Amino acid sequence: MELGWLSVKEVLDLLDRGEVGCGELTRDLLDRIGEVDPRVRAFTNVFPREALELSRERRQGPLGGIPIAVKDNICTLGQETTCASRILKGFRPPYNATVIERLERAGYVLLGKTNLDEFAMGSSTENSGLFTTHNPWDLCRVPGGSSGGSAAAVAAGECLAALGSDTGGSIRQPASFCGVVGLKPTYGRVSRFGLVAFASSLDQIGPLTRTVEDAALLLEVISGHDPRDSTSAPYPPLKAEELLSKEVKGMVLGLPREYYGEGLDLQVGEVITKAVRTLEELGCRVEEVSLPHTPYAVATYYLVATAEASSNLARYDGVRYGLRAFEYGDLYDMYVKTRSQGFGPEVKRRIMLGTYALSAGYYDAYYLKAQKVRTLIRRDFEKVFETCDAVVTPTSPTPAFKMGERVLDPLTMYLSDIYTISVNLAGVPAVSIPCGFTQEGLPVGLQVIGKAFDEATILSLGHAYQEVTDWHRKRPPL
Ligand code: GLN
Repeated sequence: MELGWLSVKEVLDLLDRGEVGCGELTRDLLDRIGEVDPRVRAFTNVFPREALELSRERRQGPLGGIPIAVKDNICTLGQETTCASRILKGFRPPYNATVIERLERAGYVLLGKTNLDEFAMGSSTENSGLFTTHNPWDLCRVPGGSSGGSAAAVAAGECLAALGSDTGGSIRQPASFCGVVGLKPTYGRVSRFGLVAFASSLDQIGPLTRTVEDAALLLEVISGHDPRDSTSAPYPPLKAEELLSKEVKGMVLGLPREYYGEGLDLQVGEVITKAVRTLEELGCRVEEVSLPHTPYAVATYYLVATAEASSNLARYDGVRYGLRAFEYGDLYDMYVKTRSQGFGPEVKRRIMLGTYALSAGYYDAYYLKAQKVRTLIRRDFEKVFETCDAVVTPTSPTPAFKMGERVLDPLTMYLSDIYTISVNLAGVPAVSIPCGFTQEGLPVGLQVIGKAFDEATILSLGHAYQEVTDWHRKRPPL
């Protein structure tokens, strides 16, 4: 049986009815990984023995027996967590991330860890220090990033669901490129404890799945207050049923004019227009709105994110984690050699940019200014949400691009996230939903953005959309 193409919900029903066994399910997915992963390369590590052992009997809990893949920047006790960086090669965390603890309690089966751009810095997985993941819809193209491994694994039928992290679009953009659902929850909704920090004021963990319903099932398990993350919001876990059951009819959707102009690929624009029409047929009202500070979002993000990254990555000093340079003189030399050898070029670029933005004399001009613009971007959204229930945009201005096409031009690569970055700066939730294909057969994603802590509206919209469309059922020609 090809169980990897079903949704989590469908497989849970099969398991409940005893029509499929847990061992059979895990074996089926491991076979699929063996068959396609040499071409897709979604996984940094697969745990066949442990996964089969856990699947001998059905585990208890709402995700009992469901094999899930986890982005390799989320700490898994005793299992290598590399962030796709040489500097963390061989690092085995002595603890589980809170999301992993919660998945454990829900009875999941850890199938493996997935590839990413090194420390989640990138939009294509080409910045991975290990290897590049391929897009299952066209192996010559990138799967997006940084959670490209998670998106490709779900898209290729290698797992039912995966976790990713999103700092500036890293769940939504790869979901869009690979034709799967990707949810970035509200900042503070899901604990960041055990997520290797990139930019702490922006990072958020979320699910990549085939259906919006599955995203809600996973969010139910991983959401909720955690005293070990000081920015975790003081709310109880969400309920999947409530996340999906809001009345969509009568909702007002804002289309920000800044997201539908120059730079938007024509075919992507056409697919999005059709998707918006479908939402209108479901009874939503569409309104043009403005997010006037959008043109400053990319610049603001690359100041805030790099500043935080330069500080967060100071801890990789060759003493505490993973790699240490083999030969060195004094302590300073050891730091220099370890960091020079351990980090890849993009990570180094960001550490330098961030250190510069924070340095005396430039702090006010760059970092402080960026913080002020960030506030204006957040206010843009607050204003729009006074009259709209959700904001609807393309997830990415283009479909998946070819490998190598942007890797030598960091600025073009940074612009891949132009529609996703503001959402992180504002801290609001957003989901990318498969909504069609280009003529070349590449998936397109529709981004639905919600008010802070209102995942229910965007997931209900996405769920209603998927009930009347079948884009999420299409399989790549692997
Ligand atoms: N592509 C963006 C970056 O390179 C976002 C990455 C992310 O969300 N982790 O920073």
